[in-house]
Amino acid sequence: VAVIVAEKGGQTAHTAILARALEIPAVLSVKDALEKIGNGDTVIVDGEYGEVFVQPIPKTIEIYRKKRKLYEEQVQELKKYINKDTVTQDEKRVCLAANIGNAEDAVKAMESGAECVGLFRTEFLFMNGVSMPTEEEQFEEYKKAAVLTKGMPLTIRTLDIGGDKDIPYMGLTKETNPFLGYRAIRFCLDRVDIFTTQLRAILRASAYGSIRIMIPMITSVNEVRQVKDMIKKICSDLDHNGISYDKNIQTGVMIETPAAAIMADAIAQEVDFFSIGTNDLTQYTIAVDRCNENVAYLYSAFNPAVLRLIRRIIECAHNAGIEAGMCGEAAANALMAPILLSFGLDEFSVSTGKVLETRKTIADWSLKEAGLVTDKVMSMATEKEVTDYLSDYLSERNKK
Ligand code: PEP
Ligand code: MG
Repeated sequence: VAVIVAEKGGQTAHTAILARALEIPAVLSVKDALEKIGNGDTVIVDGEYGEVFVQPIPKTIEIYRKKRKLYEEQVQELKKYINKDTVTQDEKRVCLAANIGNAEDAVKAMESGAECVGLFRTEFLFMNGVSMPTEEEQFEEYKKAAVLTKGMPLTIRTLDIGGDKDIPYMGLTKETNPFLGYRAIRFCLDRVDIFTTQLRAILRASAYGSIRIMIPMITSVNEVRQVKDMIKKICSDLDHNGISYDKNIQTGVMIETPAAAIMADAIAQEVDFFSIGTNDLTQYTIAVDRCNENVAYLYSAFNPAVLRLIRRIIECAHNAGIEAGMCGEAAANALMAPILLSFGLDEFSVSTGKVLETRKTIADWSLKEAGLVTDKVMSMATEKEVTDYLSDYLSERNKK
């Protein structure tokens, strides 16, 4: 597959996320694409700016040949950041992690220059097969990822099904509001058989690396406690049977709902780390379906409401003495970097293709400058003011 053009979906729909992981240029939400693009047509797809040219004139082809060359040169240029630490100009070090979708991706993550894995989306393991993966199959997959990451932290997120992700063989009923329905931890706490199998497989694999367990779509302390109770029971069963696992395994949660962000102080008392899921946090905070092309214009993590929640989540984590990372797509956004640095984000977890770019972006900032920019941003009332200011600031800065 060279490129993907789709009539539906948004920037953080899972189609887009997978395309990004596979480094396939993709443009989604292209109205009437099927009607306008014919068989055999020449098409230019600009995944960076979200543009599609059908039957382009020779001049456009020429411009894009040059753009492609420039892009390839930039990719080469970024290679010098591969074995570097991720530090700001004033030596503030952060962790740069990768998001992966299967154990094989762990190789790509390590090769890309990532320092660890901040998000392993396990649902693809369930979606790609024709039946539920057994404990043994899951154990092998998680163990493989643990071995491949060579003792670096590997954050395995438990099954996040529902929303725009279906498991065909499960026969789940179609819902009117799938993103508000039977999804992620809600599904897992209902289907404890499936959840127990997955947790056991993760715990067993933890004997082979530095695995952390991460729970998606938490909305209450209660859910966190239920999961911790389940993990405790499984651990004592493993102990009873003499099966080894990492007894100090960390359990963290994704903070990706407004309820969790508001209750972040209380949730922080229960867990070892936070990871901010801006893809969902944005859709739930602004009430904008992340896959709906009709409201895509409203979907932005730069909305001040989202920014205030991000600031609060990091503050609550630090007040409780735990770390806050981010594994939503906003972590790789160059305009977002000064804000996240200034808020004190500890870990940036991005798609493998974005690792070096993110390291370079972070290296371009000092905390002092990022702080001044962030003070200004946080005094603004609209998304447009924020993005206009940041774009202008960066383009002025690039001229210097
Ligand atoms: C998020 O919501 O930001 C996230 C990382 O999880 P997903 O995109 O898989 O929902
Ligand atoms: Mg999410």
